[in-house]
Amino acid sequence: MSTEGRSFKKTAAAALICAVVVFLCLNRLLPDKKAEEARGDYFFLGTVVHISVYGQGKDFLSEELAGLEAEGKRLEKLFSANIPESDVRRASDGQGKWVEVSEETYALVKRAVDLSEDTDGAFDPALGRITKLWKIGSDGARVPEEEEIRAALRCCGCKDIELKEDDGAYFIKVTGGALIDLGGIAKGRVADIMVKKLADDGIKSALIDLGGNLAVTGERPGGGKWRLGIQTPERPRGEYFGTVSVSDCSVVTSGAYERYLEKDGVRWHHIFDPSTGRPTDSDFSSVTVIDRDSTKADALSTALFVMGRDGADGYLKEHKDIAAVFLLKGEKRVLVTEAARSVFTAADASLSVGDIGGAGK
Ligand code: FAD
Ligand code: MG
Repeated sequence: MSTEGRSFKKTAAAALICAVVVFLCLNRLLPDKKAEEARGDYFFLGTVVHISVYGQGKDFLSEELAGLEAEGKRLEKLFSANIPESDVRRASDGQGKWVEVSEETYALVKRAVDLSEDTDGAFDPALGRITKLWKIGSDGARVPEEEEIRAALRCCGCKDIELKEDDGAYFIKVTGGALIDLGGIAKGRVADIMVKKLADDGIKSALIDLGGNLAVTGERPGGGKWRLGIQTPERPRGEYFGTVSVSDCSVVTSGAYERYLEKDGVRWHHIFDPSTGRPTDSDFSSVTVIDRDSTKADALSTALFVMGRDGADGYLKEHKDIAAVFLLKGEKRVLVTEAARSVFTAADASLSVGDIGGAGK
């Protein structure tokens, strides 16, 4: 064969390979009605995790799941207060010393401190002395003596956390005996990081469920918004009092019905009022926040639960953009903010729906 003939064949082969690569890439990026599903069920962050990803190619999807699982476990090793080598534990154990941490931990602790200020301390990431004292949800859970609670409370609050960035390195200093606990915010951050990874990897449709902390990317497979249920407290898992219809969004619920200690007929749950050091006597059974930013939604669902009805109403009047749904304790009544009106549907016809945060006015 002539030199021109061989060169033509090489060019044609290269063009064919390029066409196949472009086809495969487009196939992943364009909306796809016949998407396959890969689902992973795991246990990390102290909770049951389910992830479903949709697209083309079982191997590609399984690889994506494996990557998400690895990422979740890597982040847990940075953020967990239960792992002695984690950034969070090293910072708390370093009492009075600057401890170098990863940029990710620094950024999350900084965000947690900012959200604490924003919620006037209702969200307190320096509440670790209190959570460690009660141990709700773990072995050794107990109701402490009032004196123990008072002593632990003296070691809480973000005044005891300092942060500094120095020449590309990140440091945290914890003082006054405080312990950092990111249990009320870190699942949201992990969801946000997973959502970013999915987008970077070209996955158009996915559902992440980190123990009730939900995040969806894009639309559901086949098109249209995702319909996500909000659990009815005290009822079997999967029984919903309402749904929210969203795309590219996160839906985070805080409630008193999953993690608690029952003693002498009294239920002590895991969301603490930083002003008393005791489980919050909230007006709500659950609080759901709907936001693209899962870190914010996680911290705010906890904070609004702590604030109670009057506190939440006042806060939401100053933050009209927040979409939130509140189930009132002991009543068949939900309150929704103006921003949540268009996405929330009551699933139970006997449920009455009212306003909070100036909605409807
Ligand atoms: P949320 O309302 O989002 O958070 C409640 C949690 O936040 C409490 O458990 C407490 O940790 C903290 N908190 C309570 N009150 C406040 C407040 N006023 N302000 C700020 N924070 C508050 N659980 C285990 O049993 N074993 C584990 O090994 C374990 N490891 C974990 C590792 C990580 C990185 C994270 C994020 C959580 C871990 N958990 C573990 C906790 C478990 O997953 C919790 O159920 C979860 O964090 C609580 O979330 P929630 O959605 O139920 O409630
Ligand atoms: Mg939370």
